Amino acid sequence: MNFHDSERLAGLLEAEGYIRADSDASADLVVINTCSVREKAEEKLYTRLGEIRQAGGDSRRTPVVAVAGCVAQQEGDRLLRRQAPIDVVVGTQSLKRLPALVDEALALQRTRVDVNPYEDVSFPLGVVRHSDPIRAWVTIIEGCNEFCAFCVVPYTRGHERMRPVCDLLAEVEQAAATGHVEIQLLGQIVNHYQAPDDPSCDFAGLLERVSAVPGIARIRFASPHPRHVTDRLIGAIRDLPAVCKHLHLPVQSGSNRMLAAMRRRHTREDYLSLVERLRAAVPSIALSTDIIVGFPGETDADFEHTLDLVRRAEYQSMYSFKYSPRPNTLAGKRLPDDVTEAEKTRRIQALQALQRDIQMASFRRAVGTVETVLVDSLSRRRSWELAGRTSGNAVVNLPGPADWLGRFVPVRITEVMPNSLRGEAAGPAVDRRRPDDTVAGKFPTAGHAHAGGCHAD
Ligand code: SAM
Ligand code: SF4
Repeated sequence: MNFHDSERLAGLLEAEGYIRADSDASADLVVINTCSVREKAEEKLYTRLGEIRQAGGDSRRTPVVAVAGCVAQQEGDRLLRRQAPIDVVVGTQSLKRLPALVDEALALQRTRVDVNPYEDVSFPLGVVRHSDPIRAWVTIIEGCNEFCAFCVVPYTRGHERMRPVCDLLAEVEQAAATGHVEIQLLGQIVNHYQAPDDPSCDFAGLLERVSAVPGIARIRFASPHPRHVTDRLIGAIRDLPAVCKHLHLPVQSGSNRMLAAMRRRHTREDYLSLVERLRAAVPSIALSTDIIVGFPGETDADFEHTLDLVRRAEYQSMYSFKYSPRPNTLAGKRLPDDVTEAEKTRRIQALQALQRDIQMASFRRAVGTVETVLVDSLSRRRSWELAGRTSGNAVVNLPGPADWLGRFVPVRITEVMPNSLRGEAAGPAVDRRRPDDTVAGKFPTAGHAHAGGCHAD
């Protein structure tokens, strides 16, 4: 979501005539879009500010610096007390004001801060600067009302607001018209979506409407909440060919005691029975999840429950995190961070080792099968080497010509690599973009995307 906000910020500035600079040293304006979901992410802002100061060196040229995003929303004026070189602070809900705030800061020669919550979640059409020629991210919900005990999001992104379906379908249309074949719908709880401008359109209905847009061949979304996975949604995943057979379903813990303390409002039994229902309806579905280790009060026995749930759910991939206390949150204010750093490290390592084994076993089962791969990048090292993803979101490397980029290729899986698969074409590459659109020459090289295995910070 932050990455997509950066695409929006870049688009807003380009619409005002700004041009992307090659480096900090040559830039007149630097915008730092921040994340505060974990402490480590927040620290990156201060590292980045130091780098910008250094890039200016002895020269008298200093860029205008704008801090945007969740840290800006959370800290507001307090950021200025750090004596960092900041000219504009713009919160998550006032992104659209960035160009005006920069103008004001320059005209008035003083820092401008806007962290006011706005209700308006529409976004001007045509402004987003899509940085990927194949997939386009489209926000459908802003904010969150769940208030999980560990999570800063409701405080930094505000309460839940749904974007009108007409607004977001227009953005999908435009993405398709510019050659994008994959849409990724974004929101903190995407499956809670209910169109404010059409009572008949829930999240399953939205998937139907997006898949009806000519040129859209794949749809992904992040993140659904286990509590709101309805039969209608399972049916949409099963029945709509464009909807990828992959579900990122954050569980956070396998211990009911921890889930209650985290205020997740689902139990391990609810979750595992949902996994069963999903697998019964869509046998090929690949699941992934988010897990926090070392939440306050987590014992060895709680952690064992998490390992046990991971064995049963058989995730294809996982994002795992050590708990870090966040400002304003219930856990941050009321619960002592009582699992030692060494214990958090031990648990995350054990969890990741288990997940690696599970992923390897699932990858080995794929050898010999034929998967449809949407080719999305070129290897940085070898010009004939391409990479793409299966519907289940596994990364597949294969040899092939560069003009397969953006095409769907049937690939026979031949080999398992750490975090990815290897294969070779088993049939012709199919172009499913809208006719007349050409995206040649606009493709990224492999390596910029997360490879889909274990991830931790
Ligand atoms: N909305 C999604 C959901 O309900 O699961 C998650 C969004 S959150 C921005 C992304 C992930 O960051 C969470 O699923 C959780 O695993 C992790 N996370 C959030 N707060 C955290 C904290 N205080 N410490 C460690 N990990 C955290
Ligand atoms: Fe945070 Fe997700 Fe819980 Fe909302 S549902 S509070 S975004 S973890």
